[in-house]
Amino acid sequence: MTDVVTRIAPSPTGEAHVGTAYVALFNWAWAHKNDGRFILRIEDTDQARSKREYEDGIYEALAWLGIESDESPAAGGAHGPYRQSERSAVYAEHAAQLIASGNAYRCFCTAERLAELRQFQKAAKGRLGYDGHCRDIAPAEAAERAKNETHVVRLAVDREGSTRWHDLLRGEIVIANEEDDDQELVKSDGMPTYHMANVVDDHMMGVSIVMRAEEWIPSTPKHVMLYAAFGWEPPTFAHVPLLRNRDKSKISKRKNPTSLIWYRDAGYLPETMVNFLALQGWSPREDDEEFAVAEFVNKFNPRDISLGGPVFDMTKLDWLNGEKIRKLSLDDLAERIIEGGFAGDWSPDHLREVLPLFQDRMKSLKDFVPLAGYIRGRPELDLEGLAKKTKKVDPAVLADMLRDAARRLEEFDGHADEEKEAALRLIAEKREVKPGAIFMALRVAVTGATASPPLFPSIDAVGFEESMARVRDLAEHLAAPA
Ligand code: GLU
Repeated sequence: MTDVVTRIAPSPTGEAHVGTAYVALFNWAWAHKNDGRFILRIEDTDQARSKREYEDGIYEALAWLGIESDESPAAGGAHGPYRQSERSAVYAEHAAQLIASGNAYRCFCTAERLAELRQFQKAAKGRLGYDGHCRDIAPAEAAERAKNETHVVRLAVDREGSTRWHDLLRGEIVIANEEDDDQELVKSDGMPTYHMANVVDDHMMGVSIVMRAEEWIPSTPKHVMLYAAFGWEPPTFAHVPLLRNRDKSKISKRKNPTSLIWYRDAGYLPETMVNFLALQGWSPREDDEEFAVAEFVNKFNPRDISLGGPVFDMTKLDWLNGEKIRKLSLDDLAERIIEGGFAGDWSPDHLREVLPLFQDRMKSLKDFVPLAGYIRGRPELDLEGLAKKTKKVDPAVLADMLRDAARRLEEFDGHADEEKEAALRLIAEKREVKPGAIFMALRVAVTGATASPPLFPSIDAVGFEESMARVRDLAEHLAAPA
């Protein structure tokens, strides 16, 4: 079996995108599983739009996710440089090679001529594309003119026949050659086009399988033609489905956050993102949708990528993040909240002390501060929620019970929780009220919310005196609502 060499080839023209991580994940996993190489190549031939800060953003985001590349501009490697802007000489040499073999030619057509051609083709409702005007210029003459004239280099595409390849996920794909014109390989500024640089690099870097988003399918015949022109064996292609918004359109900023760092800053764990992104195109045979990265790498095979349009479902992402948070040890969770900058002004010690109350309730690392807020300050009380949950109890009776409860809890201070609970039940039963009502009222008094961590630990965390003061205040409010 040939060595498994995979790659991602992002263009650094914007914030690191979830789609980049999604494709990176499959490529990384496959190389990793097979002891192969995973390459991160920066396709920055669009000099106007490419920025170093975006490139750095890609490193930062992938490092956060634990997707490490074996070769990259930052890590180096035996097949570098890994930034296309630093490989101009390589492309020039390859373009010259194609010209010499008659597979490519220089084109001197001016922008005006090309615009006119387009106008004409449009008016005639014909196929758009280059008409081969410069294809028959004698090579020696073209070489001479090239010394002084602006020109591009084009591939001499076979007009007849078709180009085919076997897509690992989609089977045989055949595209008639007349669909493609004589594509540009080198632009007038001497820069290679995406097609040229991509093919030369994939070949020179020994890439064995190209797993990329399906939006690149229309480019693939051009690539296959180029491989043939060079006399090279093309890699295996596997075009994976695009990430999609809920309405099935291609994932976009307007409908979903697409920046990876946004997810980090919103309190998602990197392992949640990896699990979630993997699920977009792959699922374990067993139904369990929550899995560890190592488990995914172990089981993953590109052949199993499913083509059903995956939907980027934030509700599911939140669920998954909650699951992952519950799996962390308390120390680990505390560390991530603190290191991630999600602790607000909580001291690490205090945070660690109360964290057990909240682990089960968190869907994001960001949740700790709001959930635990009642411990350090008077919370706003959900009185509406309380009224709904204690509908059958007269507020005056509830107030009376609360006062009673505060007294009993003082008497029972230091006793076991079961004893306190029994005492509170008695308070309700004496008044022929369901015990749930008193527990609910206490909960709202102490924590502000009807759904909150358990009552007694919350009282401990808030402090006994302060908790009882809150209970009495609520009693007063219920007895004489403002
Ligand atoms: N530079 C392309 C991109 O931005 C690479 C596509 C490919 O993987 O061939 O995604």
